[in-house]
Amino acid sequence: MKNRNVILGIDGIPFELMRSLSDKGVMPNFKELKNSYYFKEMKSSIPHISSVSWSSIITGTNPGEHGIFGFSELIPGTYSLSYPNFNALKSKAFWHQESEKRHIIINVPATYPAKILNGIHIAGFVALDLEKAVYPKTCIPSLKKLEYVIDIDSSLAHKQSKDILFDELMRVLEIRKKTYQFFWNKLNWNNFMVVITSSDRFGHFLWNTYANTDNKLHSRALQFFQKIDDFIGDIKDKLKENDNFIILSDHGMEETKQNMNLNTYLEQEGFLKLSDKHKNYNRIAKGTKAFVLDPGRVYLNKKGRYPNGSISNLEEKDIIEELKKIFYDLKYQNQRVIRTIHEKNDIYSGVNIDKAPDLVVLENSGFCPKGGIGKNVIFEQDNLSGMHNDSAFLFINKEINLELPKVQDVVGLLGGN
Ligand SMILES: [Zn+2]
Repeated sequence: MKNRNVILGIDGIPFELMRSLSDKGVMPNFKELKNSYYFKEMKSSIPHISSVSWSSIITGTNPGEHGIFGFSELIPGTYSLSYPNFNALKSKAFWHQESEKRHIIINVPATYPAKILNGIHIAGFVALDLEKAVYPKTCIPSLKKLEYVIDIDSSLAHKQSKDILFDELMRVLEIRKKTYQFFWNKLNWNNFMVVITSSDRFGHFLWNTYANTDNKLHSRALQFFQKIDDFIGDIKDKLKENDNFIILSDHGMEETKQNMNLNTYLEQEGFLKLSDKHKNYNRIAKGTKAFVLDPGRVYLNKKGRYPNGSISNLEEKDIIEELKKIFYDLKYQNQRVIRTIHEKNDIYSGVNIDKAPDLVVLENSGFCPKGGIGKNVIFEQDNLSGMHNDSAFLFINKEINLELPKVQDVVGLLGGN
């Protein structure tokens, strides 16, 4: 019997949560697995957001190769935003690298629209239209019967009752489980991948119910993780003896203290000039040295690259040093809020590095970096409870030699089946 690969993704769940909830007995199935096999913290992508990280996980490459640096980018030669999807991915997902093998791929973020493959693909968020999210289309009637949804109804997050939101997270998690069960025996597959994304929504909207053990909904947070553990147990029971079983997340999560409007800071420091004409990033005016796209991607306003660009190659180095200085100086109540600033050549390599941000600013714990244009204040709060961090996790049911696993290492772990 040749090895098959089963990959369960749990979006946005940090290493420490998996470790502590399994040790405490909330996740007994995962406890048994992690105590018997390989379980380590895995560094997320830079920046640590879903579309970038999952693109690295499924291709085995860094953003300089696969070309996805964020949920948004600017259309070349303009200041207009676009939202790259699966068509913008420049490296092949593993299911396109090995087309002689059969694959079932369910709910992987940033894989919309679904493309032809040897198997079945149901794309995850951001996926606007179920019809375009599914290959082959003959699967759609079955999905409708399963009452399949791509994401939770996020409008419920703004309702007073958080119980309703928990109900929705549980409902969507159950649909995901029924869907994987439905497809499990549909094909004689080599690779089966399914991603739980309710977990990321839980993190953003309800992190406090987990982090604060006194929260009156804490028991519901634990129920939610028990249900994820049931999902893990359900897969575990279905595995054949030689199957590889990988469980992983794309990034971690932690409590949000403040959001940081970095473009407002750049404006205050004289690096960003905005006109009152136009909207959004099209407000960027002559005299701008740099601007930020979500979450902390800093772009120099280069001559020849942008309509109002003025920075020459000769000036680049000095401006990068000036930017580093002002970002490291940024403080909230006397506390520095920027932990590290990376230059693109230090973190990215590959044929798409020219699309990379010149700098990536990484935050200290709790300070969520934001792009966006025209905000009045640098620091502000919103009603989100959790924000991403770079502490993802990796589990595999065999002995491997990876001291500090990275997201782009995962494809290399797939068994040669
Ligand atoms: Zn994510």
